[in-house]
Amino acid sequence: MVVIILIDSSFLFYQGDKLRQETFDKDLAETAKTLAVIFKKTSSKEIRDLDPNTISLLLSEPHDEMFYAIRDSKGQFIFGNPKVRYQEADPEDLEDKDFLNIFSDEIDGKGVRVVSIPIEHTIRNKIAVYHIQVAETRLQRQEIQRQIIFWIVIPQLILLISAMVLVRFAVTRGLSPILFLNEKITSLSYKNLTPIDLQGVPKEVDRLVGSLNRLMQELNFAIQSQNRFVSDAAHQLRTPLAGILAQIELALDTKNANEIQKRLENINESSKRLIHIINQLLTLSKSQSDALHHAEFMPLNLVAFTKQVTSIMLPAADLKHIDLGYEGSEEVLNIMADEGRLYDLIHNLIDNAIKYTADHGKVTLAVDLKDNKVRLVVEDNGIGIPKEDQTTIYERFYRGDNVNAAGAGVGLAIVKEIADIHNARIEIDSRKDKEGTRFYVYFDLKI
Ligand code: ADP
Repeated sequence: MVVIILIDSSFLFYQGDKLRQETFDKDLAETAKTLAVIFKKTSSKEIRDLDPNTISLLLSEPHDEMFYAIRDSKGQFIFGNPKVRYQEADPEDLEDKDFLNIFSDEIDGKGVRVVSIPIEHTIRNKIAVYHIQVAETRLQRQEIQRQIIFWIVIPQLILLISAMVLVRFAVTRGLSPILFLNEKITSLSYKNLTPIDLQGVPKEVDRLVGSLNRLMQELNFAIQSQNRFVSDAAHQLRTPLAGILAQIELALDTKNANEIQKRLENINESSKRLIHIINQLLTLSKSQSDALHHAEFMPLNLVAFTKQVTSIMLPAADLKHIDLGYEGSEEVLNIMADEGRLYDLIHNLIDNAIKYTADHGKVTLAVDLKDNKVRLVVEDNGIGIPKEDQTTIYERFYRGDNVNAAGAGVGLAIVKEIADIHNARIEIDSRKDKEGTRFYVYFDLKI
C-alpha cells in the first residue's frame, strides 16, 4: 500500500510539474516572439537595441525578474544582458518544427529558464539570422510547484492513507465471522460434535453454521449407528460362541462317547450359524450405500438370473421338503444391476422364505412387468409378518417376535441396502390370516 501511495503521489507530482513547466515555457517563448517582432520593427533600417520602455513593459513580472539578449547567427552578443547565456541547439532537434530551444541556467546565482528563438531579418538588403533570447527567474514556478504539492499531492496522500485505513478496517471486520467460526470449529472433535450455538453467530455465516450443524448431526448419527452396529454384531457373535463353549465344557466333563458325539454335533451346528452370521455381516458391510461407487452395473436379464438363483437354492428347500420354483414371465426383462449384489438380494429373500415356512410348504419366485417396472416377487406360505413389524424388519439385527428359526436379523438389512444401491423399491404383502408373505422388488426397466 505504501508503495502504491508513493507511486501514485510521484506520478501525480510529475504530471503536475510537467504541465506547469510546459505552460511557463510556452509563455516565455511567446514573450520572445513578441520581442522578435519589436526587434524587426526597431531595426528596419539599421540594427538597433530595443526601446527600454517597451522592454520594461514587456519584461515585467510581479514575482520574477526577466532578462533579454539579442545575438547574431553565431551566438555573439549584440544587445541586452550578456549574462543571458547562449546555448546552440542540436541540428537534429532543429528539424522538428515544434522544437523549442530552452534550457535551465543561472544568472547572478538565481535559477532561470532561458529560451532562444532564431529569426531571419533583412537590413539594407542583407539577410541574417538573429537569436532573440528571454530569461526568467523561476520563483513563480517554484511557488506553483509548492502549491501542487500542497493542493494535489498532500490531499491525494491523505485520501490514500484514509482508504488504506478503511480497507484494513473492512478486511478485519469482514474476516471476523470467519475467525469466529474457526474458533468454534477448532473446539470440536469427533468425540464432541455438539452443534454450534446459533446465538451470537454473525449473520454473514449463520447459513454456513446451519449447514455445518446439519453435517455434524449426520456425522454424529453415523458414528452412533456404527457404534451400535459394532456392539450389536459383537452380541450376535457372542451368543453362538458362548453356546459352543458350553458344549465343549459339557463334552469335556463326560466320557460317554454318545454324549460327546451329540455335543460335537451341536458345536458343528453352532459353528455353521456363526459362519453364517459372519458372512451376513460381511455382505452387509459390502452393501452399504457408500459402497455404491464400487458397484459394477451391467444390463442383466432378471428372469434368467432369478431362475438361476432359485435353482441354486433347491437343495436348501429340499431339506424342508419345500416346493421351490419359478412361475413368472419367460420374456427377457433387463435391468441394470451389480450381479454379485443382486445375487445376495434374491438369495436372502429365498433363504428367509424357506426359513419362515413350515416343512412341506411352498416358495414361488416370479418376475414380471408391472407399471413399466421389472418386478421380482418372492412368495411363501409361511408364518407371515405382522403389520407392525413390516417397517422395522429392515433394521439391522431386528428379529420378529414370532420367529423361532435361527438368524442374526441382518438378511433384510442387506436386501434393503442392495435395493437402495439399485434404486429399487421394496414392498411387502403379508396376509392377515398368516398364510404367508410376498416380497416385491421393483427395478427400472433397461430398454
Ligand atoms: P433373520 O431372518 O436373521 O431374523 P432378517 O433381517 O432376514 O433376519 O429378517 C428380519 C425379520 O423379518 C425376521 O426375524 C422375521 O421376523 C421377518 N421376516 C423376514 N422374512 C420373512 C418371511 N419370509 N416370512 C416371515 N417373516 C419374515
